[in-house]
Amino acid sequence: MTPKIARFLTTQVLATPCLVLDIDRVEENFHTLRAAMPLASIYYAVKANPACPVLKRLVRLNSSFDAASFEEIEMCLAAGALPERVSFGNTIKKVSAIQRAHAAGVDMFAFDCAEELEKLAEHAPGSRVYCRILVENAGADWPLSRKFGTSVGQARALMVQAAKLGLDPYGLSFHVGSQQTTTAAYEAAIGPVAMLFTDLRDSGVNVRMVNLGGGFPTRYRDEVPTIDRFADAIMRAMTAHFGNALPEILVEPGRCIVGDAGVLRTEVVLVSRREPADPVRWVYLDVGRFGGLAETEGEAIKYRIHTPHDGGQSGPVVIAGPTCDGADILYERNNYRLPEALASGDQIDLLATGAYVTTYASQRFNGFAPLAEHYI
Ligand SMILES: *Cc1c(COP(=O)(O)O)cnc(C)c1O
Repeated sequence: MTPKIARFLTTQVLATPCLVLDIDRVEENFHTLRAAMPLASIYYAVKANPACPVLKRLVRLNSSFDAASFEEIEMCLAAGALPERVSFGNTIKKVSAIQRAHAAGVDMFAFDCAEELEKLAEHAPGSRVYCRILVENAGADWPLSRKFGTSVGQARALMVQAAKLGLDPYGLSFHVGSQQTTTAAYEAAIGPVAMLFTDLRDSGVNVRMVNLGGGFPTRYRDEVPTIDRFADAIMRAMTAHFGNALPEILVEPGRCIVGDAGVLRTEVVLVSRREPADPVRWVYLDVGRFGGLAETEGEAIKYRIHTPHDGGQSGPVVIAGPTCDGADILYERNNYRLPEALASGDQIDLLATGAYVTTYASQRFNGFAPLAEHYI
């Protein structure tokens, strides 16, 4: 928790649940990444937190943006981003969204199959396109599975085809999975992508860019390697494979830019025991899986929790949300412990909740309003 957030939380009476996000921490995280990877252009992954104050600060820092939809492109433009600094990075795009992005001046698009390439050739003619390669997501706490990306062999054919269709075969991309905790995932991905890159250049395709995607982790319950460790491993692998002829390098960080800038304040609604002697207490909060904590699915992301009773005697708990849905349990199998003194009405804080929380909140499930947001 940043000093600014701590001050805000002690001086304001806030209705819960709410997210408090320190925009200066966003800026610090951006500077840390830029200092660690000075050769890379940073395309902030808007979906991690699309709030206007976040986007505006990043525009001021000269960031570029990775948008998943035309709506996110509009948010970037409204925050002052230039369309040539926005990449339409979703491989799954409606024709109408491609048309509107193209008309707005966006000229960089991701694809991973022949069908999408044909849509781009027709509705965004002449644009820069990059092909997403499917890579291993081992080591990622929030993997992206096999939903996106294609094989190296197929990517080769598609990049040749892109040029034939009048598109600019700009580059190759991959994503090692979100909350990636090992530098080895990037090292393993870079080798085959570099080989394909060289092969395409030797075949006369004017490919110039490698997009390393996102995945850089935020510190939750467990320690993670620093951004510097990731940057060192990545640049060593890039130099090993490309030598002095480095391509343009892009990164698309989301989580590591906004994650630790936010704190979610929530109220304890109920603390109960199934049996009087049961050592395990059920702690129900006023926020849960449907209030924005979607990444607790499978207990994948394990947030750290602060309570007003920290330091006192603690005991095992199951932590759940407030809705009448059996899936609305945050943590049951991961040995969460909270103070024995915890009682309904206490306000507790979930740390590092700046990424992938606000937009995951359902509209009105069980009547509960989406999370309030304070950007300070
Ligand atoms: C979600 C996403 C990102 C951001 O990933 P993080 O793990 O939050 O850094 C980057 N690129 C693409 C294509 C994505 O879908």
